[in-house]
Amino acid sequence: MILILQADTDKNGREFHQLMEHLSRMNNIQVRVHDEVGALQTLTEIYLVGDTATLQIEDMKNLPCVERVVRVSEEYRVLGRHHDDDRATYFEYNGVRFGQDTLNIFAGLCAVDIPEHVEIMMKALKERGLPCTRMGAYKPRTNPYSFQGHGKECLPYVFELAGKYDIKVIAMEVTHDSHVREIHEALEQTGHPTGVMLQIGTRNTQNFELLKSVGREPELPVLLKRGFGITLEESLNAAEYLASEGNRRVVFGLRGMKTNMGDPHRNFVDFSHVPVVKRLTRMPVCVDPSHSVGSREASPEGIMDVFHVTAQGVIAGANMILVDFHPAPGKALVDGPQALRMDELDFFLEDVRIAREAYEKRVTLAQAHLKSQASAA
Ligand code: PEP
Ligand code: MN
Repeated sequence: MILILQADTDKNGREFHQLMEHLSRMNNIQVRVHDEVGALQTLTEIYLVGDTATLQIEDMKNLPCVERVVRVSEEYRVLGRHHDDDRATYFEYNGVRFGQDTLNIFAGLCAVDIPEHVEIMMKALKERGLPCTRMGAYKPRTNPYSFQGHGKECLPYVFELAGKYDIKVIAMEVTHDSHVREIHEALEQTGHPTGVMLQIGTRNTQNFELLKSVGREPELPVLLKRGFGITLEESLNAAEYLASEGNRRVVFGLRGMKTNMGDPHRNFVDFSHVPVVKRLTRMPVCVDPSHSVGSREASPEGIMDVFHVTAQGVIAGANMILVDFHPAPGKALVDGPQALRMDELDFFLEDVRIAREAYEKRVTLAQAHLKSQASAA
């Protein structure tokens, strides 16, 4: 059960004290307090965990400071959508809004290689008014002898170039909590010219210690990829690990499932789950067409499969696209064969715009239908 308190409740005040006194006297119930600090106000939520079935909503509503009460189901307590739950389905980070109603494009390098390529990418994004990118510094590789990413060595110039080209958020995979520390140090050292969204990759979706430490991260949001060989429920529970430790700024990423059924794609595309994740949780949903498809193959009409699946995700309501681009895919150190070229960026963006417009028209159509049904009833 969640008690949502009146906005800007004073935690030093008498009423809050009375409320906490009361809650602490309840048997077999643990109390966790969480503050959601927004631009205009702070919302305090109190999570009651344990024997809450016998608690009456009306009684809890009458406690001091309480504005609303949400009875949550067992699953996805923090990030889930529950009955009568009107908690936010978005968050803001470094001036960019991430929500179930927005669409952010993170085109960029799968792996940082040389400063020139980073700069070409970021300059192209700035010219098109795009404030986000992907830049891999730590690369988990199947083969131990493959390039593992430049790690912390490249962070200062990546962040400085991001500042130069007005990039507000860089999605960057981390595989260990030391990487998070190094990112913080490099941001500090360069004067915070940009922001970072920590990416937890499909190989680490159930790395619970990593989830817990990133969950305790107070500043940086997280993109959690779905595990490629586990159920959706297991992956959503992994997201809940982050939130239960305190970090609720989580985007959930679909990137295809590992099964030969998807051949010849690298992974079996699962973007039909975009609306499912939006229904079950309050997280924005990302799609990664590059790691799903894994090639530049095109259909006979001249549309690459990467474009096709991007459009499928966007027309189903995706909120973020993580897509590999590279100025010289032949020279890319990781995943060159699936990277789009810079001269394809405008074509890609226009294709996304068309799909997003179609999604918005579909929403308008659905809402008109619901309205006509309601008035007929
Ligand atoms: C990536 O985005 O670079 C990546 C390795 O993705 P995934 O974890 O989905 O394989
Ligand atoms: Mn990759």
